[in-house]
Amino acid sequence: MSYFWKMDTLTRQKEIKKANLSAIGEKVTSFFWDIAPENGFELREGQQDMSFEIMDALIHDQHFAVEAGVGIGKSFGYLVPALLYNKMMQKPVIVATSTIALQEQLWKDIHDVMPLLNLQPEVILAKGQTHYLCHKRANEYLHTKDAVIPKELREGIEKGFEERKQFPAALPQNIWDKVNVQRYGIGTCGFCSKKCVYHNIRFRLRYTAGIILCNQDFLTAHLLQIRREQCGLISRDADLIIVDEAHNLEDKVRNATTKRVSQRMLLSLMKSATNEVKASDRQVLYKETAAAQAAGRAFFNCLQAQIQKQINFAQQDMRYADRYFFDGSRHSLQLLAVLAETIKSVAFSIQLHSNIAYTEQLTTASDELIALGENLEELIEEPEDSLIWLERRGSNAELVYCPKNTRQIINR
Ligand code: SF4
Repeated sequence: MSYFWKMDTLTRQKEIKKANLSAIGEKVTSFFWDIAPENGFELREGQQDMSFEIMDALIHDQHFAVEAGVGIGKSFGYLVPALLYNKMMQKPVIVATSTIALQEQLWKDIHDVMPLLNLQPEVILAKGQTHYLCHKRANEYLHTKDAVIPKELREGIEKGFEERKQFPAALPQNIWDKVNVQRYGIGTCGFCSKKCVYHNIRFRLRYTAGIILCNQDFLTAHLLQIRREQCGLISRDADLIIVDEAHNLEDKVRNATTKRVSQRMLLSLMKSATNEVKASDRQVLYKETAAAQAAGRAFFNCLQAQIQKQINFAQQDMRYADRYFFDGSRHSLQLLAVLAETIKSVAFSIQLHSNIAYTEQLTTASDELIALGENLEELIEEPEDSLIWLERRGSNAELVYCPKNTRQIINR
């Protein structure tokens, strides 16, 4: 009996949703036929058709792909239904583009359209972390002995600038890289500065019911986190996602799913993770940390030897090659398995002895270490699912891998 009642309610809810979406369709029509021309907006061929098709797809609960020529005003074409949908559903809508310039342009477009529709949703522009100033790193850098501090940096910080675009272009990129956000959410980051703009944005992204303008890298990182059963970077209530410039998505996903592991990166991650435990308690980690470091040395020495062997035996000069084969031998995979196991074991001990509250909301270095260990284990179990190769950074070897099935990941 209750089953039929539930079915009945669901059918009814679907009907109401469909009716509401049809009502939105009328508003879209009125926007393009009345409101936009009255407000001096020039309508372009194909633009309204695109909007109507989007509405049709929403009404029928379908995905929709559109290829639109340059200059038809496609951002207006999707922003109008998206804004109205957001108002009706009270759920976040994600718009992912491929470049910062497009994100900025969209920010402008959406603020032009909103007053015409009499809507005022929260709009969040989520750029990559490296675009924002990290107060903690900036403070450390400004107090570093003999640091080069250009006047553009000092003056910008004094004026309260928070984003790269506010600082003069003359500020050298290598200096900006010393003061921007690099590893958000690791260790004490996330708690250290109330005025941190990036922290504020990341917080709002989780709880907003508004419009999120992000880039495809950010969207990919979010979806991959959800896939790993983490909580993701954006509110999980979002049920409409628009991918603009979608032809770039495959490259973005490939980049986002390509992982690099070097000995230096591993040591730095272990160091950050160890800092989660009070200095006075760290001696309990000594044995496990030493074992993980030894496993790292053995594995990366093995990779170094593989590279050297390929250089020695190649018919051509391979000293300057940028990629080398990973031999996938039993010996290499055994060393990798020991590495994966030891880093996971250190990370679990760290979490056992630290007094940080490990929550879904904050990714710590020890969480990253566990994720890396699990990732390496998956690589060992199913090496045929990944492309694996070696690269050299200076004199150090790096293990690089990515899934073979990028297309499948995108479809998912
Ligand atoms: S919260 Fe993180 S990113 Fe923000 S200022 Fe602090 S350390 Fe930097």
